[in-house]
Amino acid sequence: MAYKPSEDRYKTMKYRRCGKSGLLLPAISLGLWHNFGHVDEYENGKKMMQYAFDQGITHFDLANNYGPPPGSAEENFGKMLKEDLMSYRDEMIISTKAGYHMWEGPYGDWGSRKYILSSLDQSLKRMGLEYVDIFYHHRPDPNTPIEESALALDHAVKQGKALYVGVSNYKPEQTAEIAKIFKELKTPFVIHQPRYSMFDRWVEDGLLDTLASHGVGSIVFSPLAQGLLTDKYLKGIPKDSRAAKDWGFLKSDHITEEKINKVLALQEVAESRGQTISQLAIAWLLRNDVVTSVLIGASSVEQLKQNLASIDNIAFSQQELDEIEKILKG
Ligand code: NDP
Repeated sequence: MAYKPSEDRYKTMKYRRCGKSGLLLPAISLGLWHNFGHVDEYENGKKMMQYAFDQGITHFDLANNYGPPPGSAEENFGKMLKEDLMSYRDEMIISTKAGYHMWEGPYGDWGSRKYILSSLDQSLKRMGLEYVDIFYHHRPDPNTPIEESALALDHAVKQGKALYVGVSNYKPEQTAEIAKIFKELKTPFVIHQPRYSMFDRWVEDGLLDTLASHGVGSIVFSPLAQGLLTDKYLKGIPKDSRAAKDWGFLKSDHITEEKINKVLALQEVAESRGQTISQLAIAWLLRNDVVTSVLIGASSVEQLKQNLASIDNIAFSQQELDEIEKILKG
């Protein structure tokens, strides 16, 4: 049966302004790094996509290399768009990125104009799109002048292949440098995509302040530390978990006793707020306005459902914040 989105899809989701731009993003966005490749079950991905859209998730995040194999998440997403969602294209914010290894030879990686612009053309083809809403440089390239990467993103906008641009994994100084170039070019640079979770707080050391001072928003990835900040690993490593899979970056030795003890302590705080650990971890990120959107991953509709309920309670008392700080620093 043809998919028909829920008529209530805009009733509960909250939309937050991305920096000082005109762009609003859902407080929770869905990333397709894992669980949408050719190695995964297509129908499961499709169910998650439909559920997400029904719940007001308007933003879907991809990259050229998501899969595995690289490129297959964009292919599957393109298929889902074609089957279900293309007539709702104007209700969606779709992003992709270039910056990591994608094809052989000197032009399939990093930050040259040649790589960035060719990669965007490939991504659009895989997804069956004429443009993406946000196009990112996925990581800074130490060997290419930052101006060259910036001009490539700017050109994508001028070509009509991207509406906005962003950077990911750029340090505060690199972000300030590229923001200055974009300002001169009048490029719509609206967003930064850094890793940020209770277990990885590097952005608090300068990046969030830099973004606020430039009026740039942020969408934070791996907010659950890839699943560590949930109840998933409290009793060992389940067979169907990310940490048990051969591909990906979450390895069993990342699941240390120290981390699990912190998760157990956080669980008490979460319970006292009527939340699960994942809900607490997401709400804690959303307490700060500089975080425009929290970019989650999921392997099932149930996980999405649980995580989406985080937005019901993102206010924290000082006592709760102090308690969380004590646990994380302990
Ligand atoms: P998360 O930290 O949200 O981890 C998601 C994983 O956590 C799920 O796949 C699932 O793992 C587990 N999980 C989620 N909810 C629950 C729950 N309620 N209960 C139990 N387990 C749960 O984010 P990701 O690391 O997936 O990253 C999110 C997105 O960020 C990516 O899809 C991508 O778009 C982006 N990203 C960007 C990067 C960049 O360099 N710019 C780098 C990495 C990610 P399981 O499969 O084990 O069930």
